[in-house]
Amino acid sequence: MKTTLITTFTAITLALTTNMALAQQHKIIYAGSVMLGTEQTVKTEQTLVIADDKISAIKSGYVSKDALGLPGAQVIDLKNHFVMPGLIDMHVHVTFERDANVSRHRWTTEYEADNALRSIKYLQRTLNAGFTSVRDLGSNYQVIFPLKRAIERNDINGPRIFAAGNTVSPTGGHADLHGYRKDISDGVGASLGICNGADDCRRATREVIKSGADVIKITATGGVLSNTAAGVNQQLSDAELSAIVDTAHHLGRKVAAHAHGTQGIKAALKAGVNSIEHGSYLDKEAIALFKKTGAYLVPTLLAGATVSEEAISNPNMPIAIADKVREVTPKMQASFKLALKNEVNIAFGTDSGVSRHGLNANEFSLLVSNGMSEAQAIKSATVSAAKLLGQDTQLGDLSVGKQADIISVNASPLKNIAELKNVQFVMKAGLIYKQ
Ligand SMILES: [Zn+2]
Repeated sequence: MKTTLITTFTAITLALTTNMALAQQHKIIYAGSVMLGTEQTVKTEQTLVIADDKISAIKSGYVSKDALGLPGAQVIDLKNHFVMPGLIDMHVHVTFERDANVSRHRWTTEYEADNALRSIKYLQRTLNAGFTSVRDLGSNYQVIFPLKRAIERNDINGPRIFAAGNTVSPTGGHADLHGYRKDISDGVGASLGICNGADDCRRATREVIKSGADVIKITATGGVLSNTAAGVNQQLSDAELSAIVDTAHHLGRKVAAHAHGTQGIKAALKAGVNSIEHGSYLDKEAIALFKKTGAYLVPTLLAGATVSEEAISNPNMPIAIADKVREVTPKMQASFKLALKNEVNIAFGTDSGVSRHGLNANEFSLLVSNGMSEAQAIKSATVSAAKLLGQDTQLGDLSVGKQADIISVNASPLKNIAELKNVQFVMKAGLIYKQ
């Protein structure tokens, strides 16, 4: 009896497996040049086989459908292209795009749906630019998580989203709402994540995670674009920082700390954050803390370059903001160079939303002009970004078993990094979005 049951069960399992194999969608890419594996070795004339959402085989030479035993597979000819893993931007705000001509009171007349619908084109632009995954660091939870799910259902086109939802920040801090009557700012639900004191910050961190956060974003220091003259120094206390980091780590989330001022950067690193975003004022001690903790720097040079331009061209920029722009942005590049020289872990991030969505690849040129090699810049947006995401078993390089997130450009970005501004082909999870 027992044997019969096991036999029947085995037969059913086999039948299911066979049916699944039959139902698999196969695609074959012929790649003229391709960057493979975490070592990012470039090989020529390779065949990549994709089964559903994953890379199932990589073979030397151009192997025919029949030789692969896949007569029904779709063939994609990228013989004249440079093929590489999809890019990852570790710092975006996909529900927002800075526009000097738009009234800064717009949020008082709109609903979450306005924001979500406007975001659809930002997401499309980002994916078209070759960014197949993004980490959104600070968007209203009622907008970003529905967008993430809509992409997962394939209702709309966009990159795979890992999102922080609402930022954990103190009252009056960088991520709080400034310049309005208290009852008005209280009324729009911007306060999930606003906290004061260690216990309250534990509560806020848990509530943000309950709302759907994949990662916790905090404002360890003041920020440039908040309309307050508070500067860019430490804003969360040491006790609040520790409480947030411990709570997030207990619940399996990493912590990304927005931080400009040196003391705030050091306090965040001592509390155990996983990345420092911006990191504008670094010194020797801060570098030593990066090295000791293994935390990443996400430099966002594009944000600095973008707001510096705007400070010159936009006479309506509030004085509190313009002053901070002039003070902070020249420091960002110097600190990046210091981190690079000391081999701090660096992951690619643009703060897109401050700059226009879809121009994310402009960051590459800034990284290279400030001292990174082309190979290092590409690694920061692929292998290193996947590691910081905690997704390196699935994302970040082209090897068998990983997600088929594949892009192509006309010529090798290892020779000319600007090629990445002109992505020709985009596949995410085995589906083609641009060809
Ligand atoms: Zn940001």
